[in-house]
Amino acid sequence: MMHRRTFLFLSALLLLACPPAFTQERPSSPKPGEALHTGEQHPPKDDGTRVSVLGYHEFSSSLAPSQMRIRTATFKKQMEALKSLRLPVISLQDFLEWKKGTKFIPPRAVMITIDDGWKSVYTEAFPILKENKFPFTVYLYKNYVDGGGRALTTSMIREMQEHGCTIGSHSVSHPFPGTVKHHARKGEAAYLKFLRREFGDSKRFLEERFGQPITTYAYPGGYFTEAMYPVAAECDYEYLFTVLPGKIRRGLDNRRLPRYIIHGNSDLHFEQATTFKALRGAEALTGVVVQTTPHPVKPEPGSRIESRLPLITADLSGVENLKPDSVVMRVSGFGKVDHEYDPASGQVSWTVDRRLRHRVCEINVQWQIAGRTKREAPMRWSFLIEREAAYQVGAGE
Ligand SMILES: [Zn+2]
Repeated sequence: MMHRRTFLFLSALLLLACPPAFTQERPSSPKPGEALHTGEQHPPKDDGTRVSVLGYHEFSSSLAPSQMRIRTATFKKQMEALKSLRLPVISLQDFLEWKKGTKFIPPRAVMITIDDGWKSVYTEAFPILKENKFPFTVYLYKNYVDGGGRALTTSMIREMQEHGCTIGSHSVSHPFPGTVKHHARKGEAAYLKFLRREFGDSKRFLEERFGQPITTYAYPGGYFTEAMYPVAAECDYEYLFTVLPGKIRRGLDNRRLPRYIIHGNSDLHFEQATTFKALRGAEALTGVVVQTTPHPVKPEPGSRIESRLPLITADLSGVENLKPDSVVMRVSGFGKVDHEYDPASGQVSWTVDRRLRHRVCEINVQWQIAGRTKREAPMRWSFLIEREAAYQVGAGE
């Protein structure tokens, strides 16, 4: 038998954790009980607000980036980008209250979630999040908490809870779709038992261990079916996150909320998550491409510059045995450009000689190593031209 618990102490903590500047109580709050479990029958009206939920997994400053692992330096740049775009990062608590219709949040906002419980959440991401005072939510699965090796420990999680971290459930065993389907084939009773264990046991474990109500769930591997909805409701989950990219508006089904999974080897989802259409009370926002390159380049990846005739450079001094005549630089709108390469310093450079016309300028530099038959993978990056500069009409147009 499930019953709702009250966590007064924690509610107070969460209230303290959410920056008051972002929130504003609604003058006439709905009556108690008006907010529904799933909110599907009478979802609160769309208030024009859009929220991007970012989903991360593992972080590393040395291992190669992949879909599920991002470089710490890239993550740091992304967090800085949120600041420079003035995109507020809201806590899970703010998100839930906004979704219920009991709180206003800025017309567009970002929420940060991190799945699985890798130790690098604590060692790599947490210092950056703490420094930026960004609240975040970790989706933990029971079997991996204190799992040894690269898993988070209870004490790490508790320390993070004191600095803006909220916890959500990511099941007991992190079953992938194949496992879920395998249980589904065993008949309804067995399937229900399996789902109740994954949803229910993880909730009970996390609430007891971390003293915080667990009302949100991130589907492992993003896999969900409608058969899970009643079990989730029975276990008092109100908000369930998928891995389907998209913005969240107030009326969306709480049982299948979109998230942008931020891949370590692609900038696409971060760019989409930080791009917002113009809304009542808020201008359109062009998302940023946050990149890191293996060698230093200028203008910096993802930066905004004012000049429309910038000097573009790449420092290839770290490349051993580079064939000097193999270097090729391409610039969007210009194609292959007549760059200079100085073998002594390893500097490749080109000054834009015709004003850049587009808001985004993409660069591609490629080279070959002596003795190898193929060129190395191209080094790509892009930067943005400030809107003001882009609109300036000047000589040379
Ligand atoms: Zn996961």
